[in-house]
Amino acid sequence: MTIANPPSFGVQQTLPGTRSSLAVMGMLRFSFGTMGSGKSTLALQIHHNLTHGGLKGALCSMLDREGARVSSRLGVSADAVVIDPSTDLRTIAQNDGDPLDYMVCDEAQFYTPEQIEQLAEIVDSMRLDVFAFGLLTDFRGKLFPGTARLLELADQAEVIQCEARCWCGDRATHNARIVDGVQVYEGELMVVDDPEREPEVSYELRCRKHWTSGQGRPDIDLG
Ligand SMILES: [Zn+2]
Repeated sequence: MTIANPPSFGVQQTLPGTRSSLAVMGMLRFSFGTMGSGKSTLALQIHHNLTHGGLKGALCSMLDREGARVSSRLGVSADAVVIDPSTDLRTIAQNDGDPLDYMVCDEAQFYTPEQIEQLAEIVDSMRLDVFAFGLLTDFRGKLFPGTARLLELADQAEVIQCEARCWCGDRATHNARIVDGVQVYEGELMVVDDPEREPEVSYELRCRKHWTSGQGRPDIDLG
């Protein structure tokens, strides 16, 4: 096959789940990146494209900032099926006897390894397309259990290149957890950033060097 014209930068031509890739049904795809790399934005875009292409699917999330929705930092959001660790994803795919065509799974790092295995089973037995999005490593720099299982089982795994940056300007590769202004490396795995929480927990993007050293952006003295 020859390509007469190189693809333009149009979003439609580079996103998975657009018309050209619809011919390939039944794949487990995993796209991973740091926070702020646009995972939820991509999840919303794919769900939108496939729904408007006449396919029937579910947008699933876990612990999203807005509850039963997937929301993007860019301000877009859509209704979502909220998953918890006891949810059997095969039941969602079967959809009361009217099987879905696809599932888009945001925050997939929080899924249990068993749920990732359910996704692979859904792909193999029902020929659904599954698009999973998630973080690679947690604040300790370790693979999330769900992410590890996805890397083991996915037909296709790819990093989302969004050029998220550390405060120093280098490419951000790690998510740092900040408790009361200090980076921590131990603690509960799942803590959602919440300004109401005491002590206050937040997350910051860091390059590996500054994730390792724990050094945040130096205070700027505005005099
Ligand atoms: Zn840095």
